[in-house]
Amino acid sequence: MTPAKENLLYEGKAKKVFSTQDPNLFIVSYKDDATAFNGVKKDTLEGKGALNNRISNLLMQELHKSAIPTHLIKELSSNETLVKKLEMFALEVIVRNFAAGSITKRLGIKEGEQFQTPILEFCYKNDALGDPMINQDHILALGLASQEQIQAISSLTLQINSILSDYFASMGILLVDFKLEFGKDGDGKICLGDEISPDTCRFWDAQTKQKLDKDRFREDLGDVVEAYEIILHKILSKASN
Ligand code: ADP
Ligand code: UDP
Repeated sequence: MTPAKENLLYEGKAKKVFSTQDPNLFIVSYKDDATAFNGVKKDTLEGKGALNNRISNLLMQELHKSAIPTHLIKELSSNETLVKKLEMFALEVIVRNFAAGSITKRLGIKEGEQFQTPILEFCYKNDALGDPMINQDHILALGLASQEQIQAISSLTLQINSILSDYFASMGILLVDFKLEFGKDGDGKICLGDEISPDTCRFWDAQTKQKLDKDRFREDLGDVVEAYEIILHKILSKASN
């Protein structure tokens, strides 16, 4: 039997997290709110929550095929999913395959340049500090994760990048960069949590380089929800082939 929602434990910028009758399970509810630049730019985009819920669950199911552990248990409704409760690491793990966003400014690289190897970055998940980039020494010194955990998180992240880059390439989409969050389940196993969606990934049409992700909102390009729909339809048509 599917456990019911109990208490709202946390309301973030994009999702709400609820406890359930089962102490090991949470329900996440995706919101239509869009925020950028650490909450400075805000709007409501009808349908975005449902699209991210669907896309994230389909991508996590794809990862399960390669035995990548994720929190996904079951999609419950258009915008709600039952997940494994994780003790989250206060880390955002970013992978970059092509230059976009903050790195273009920080390192003076032209947008769209392909890196010779994927770049792995860690940020300290702390809104008040603006999620600053940190290295492995900071993670160890602050006790955010152990050496073994950093190793496991890095290895899973690079596997996920390889799986998803190939998956999206096969549908004519470049996986430019993305952000992941990991946590520990009740047995101490490291699992992928949070979401993988156009809110947390940059997706470009490989031919036209059209942006099909949250940059449409960040850069006021319009048709944000329509772009997320394109991503969902590509995933669904690949699944039906
Ligand atoms: P933010 O906190 O950045 O505003 P969200 O609105 O997406 O982001 O909030 C979702 C919160 O739930 C995040 O803090 C995320 O780390 C946390 N979370 C995601 N998946 C799980 C999980 N399986 N167990 C516990 N917490 C989770
Ligand atoms: N990202 C995210 N949440 C964050 C920061 C980054 O999902 O809090 C994603 C972002 O959508 C992009 C990648 O991580 O796909 C790299 O982001 P970047 O550091 O370039 O962030 P920007 O400053 O451009 O938002």
